[in-house]
Amino acid sequence: MDFGLSKEISELKEDARQFADTYIRPFAAEWDEKAYFSRELFQKIGQKGYLGLPFAKEYGGKAMGTLAYMTVAEEIAKASLGVALSYVATVSIGTAPIAMYGTEEQKTKFLRPLAEGRELAAFGLTEKNAGSDAAGVETTAELSGEYFIVNGTKQWITNASYASVVTIAAITGYKEDGGKVISSLIVPMDLPGITVKRPYDKMGVRSSDTGEIYFDHVKVPKENLLGDQNAGMKQLLQVLNGGRISIAAISVGLAQEAYDKAIQHAKVREQFGGPISQFESVQFKLADMAVETEAARLLVQKASFLKDRGDVFIKEAAYAKVFASETATRNANRALQILGGTGYMREAGVERLLRDAKILEIGEGTSEIQRLVIARQLLKEGADKNGRN
Ligand SMILES: Cc1cc2nc3c(=O)[nH]c(=O)nc-3n(C[C@H](O)[C@H](O)[C@H](O)COP(=O)(O)OP(=O)(O)OC[C@H]3O[C@@H](n4cnc5c(N)ncnc54)[C@H](O)[C@@H]3O)c2cc1C
Repeated sequence: MDFGLSKEISELKEDARQFADTYIRPFAAEWDEKAYFSRELFQKIGQKGYLGLPFAKEYGGKAMGTLAYMTVAEEIAKASLGVALSYVATVSIGTAPIAMYGTEEQKTKFLRPLAEGRELAAFGLTEKNAGSDAAGVETTAELSGEYFIVNGTKQWITNASYASVVTIAAITGYKEDGGKVISSLIVPMDLPGITVKRPYDKMGVRSSDTGEIYFDHVKVPKENLLGDQNAGMKQLLQVLNGGRISIAAISVGLAQEAYDKAIQHAKVREQFGGPISQFESVQFKLADMAVETEAARLLVQKASFLKDRGDVFIKEAAYAKVFASETATRNANRALQILGGTGYMREAGVERLLRDAKILEIGEGTSEIQRLVIARQLLKEGADKNGRN
């Protein structure tokens, strides 16, 4: 077992760190304050090839695998979780469904410009009555001749205003027992009848674009059906499994950033005649932050490894997501405590970490849903006492 990153991924990590320190970190506070999404930055991210890291070369990707992608996601998240959220949303849940289930034609048409970094993608599952319960979707896609006619509203969609394409879950029919047939459709965002609004004033990740998408009799060509018409929900849940590793990766980035800021401050801030790092209560916080960040990173790496090897990784992705996201929030809170009043002031950049971290425990399946997923996997027949299937 080798715990080190390969030379190729180590170099990529350093490249991403320098990129983030140059093009993201200096602007992160301003973008947060103004709730500004930088399309120009994403052009640069695209030019670096970061939007295509896990995708096949034949469709414009870099074919570097999940671990390489997660390493870049972590580095971007250190500089700005808002940017990182938009980054992983376009790659893991916007683009990945097309890579996973698309036909040759769909991949050539939709995947290539995304993997090459020229366009951004979004994932449209959530609606007013479909949050944790994804099957609650009410958006309909009625087949009429050569088109699906889509009607409905998707809410809280990352990259909604900037995506060229959104993969949505919609009802395409009903089963004999009255149950919904939920399918996935690739919807180009420039079709007539689509409106995007940004009615939200978010607590954190303010530099990530979040919008509401309205579909009013939108004619989507029937060849944009993604994968199996009857397996839409299953497909989307599989997409979310992969997405969870990337939410865990950006959680690790935020947790690391909180630790870095805390230890830096603890060494220089003096009280009672010496640095506050002399106090055991501060030392213990730093120790817990370091241990949990490292443990979360290892969980991300294990889930990535399993995914790349083609193994089932449902439980491991949920382990990584629940632990890393909760570590991010804990570390942001601990860092703020170590910085004291300094941390409470915006200019220290630590209160932003705490505001940003919370979404990690909510998006792409709340912590409660992760625990349900884990418990279901553990209780499945055939699981041994360590929970391995
Ligand atoms: C900034 C932001 C960006 C987002 N981006 C996207 C996106 O790009 N695409 C997209 O489709 N969605 C997106 N979402 C939606 C996000 O995925 C949902 O918020 C999330 O899935 C939870 O749904 P909900 O908020 O409706 O919470 P609810 O489902 O209403 O849950 C509320 C509470 O009840 C608990 N709960 C619910 N069901 C159960 C249960 N069975 N057992 C135990 N507890 C339960 C939850 O854990 C939670 O604590 C985004 C949300 C935000 C805030």
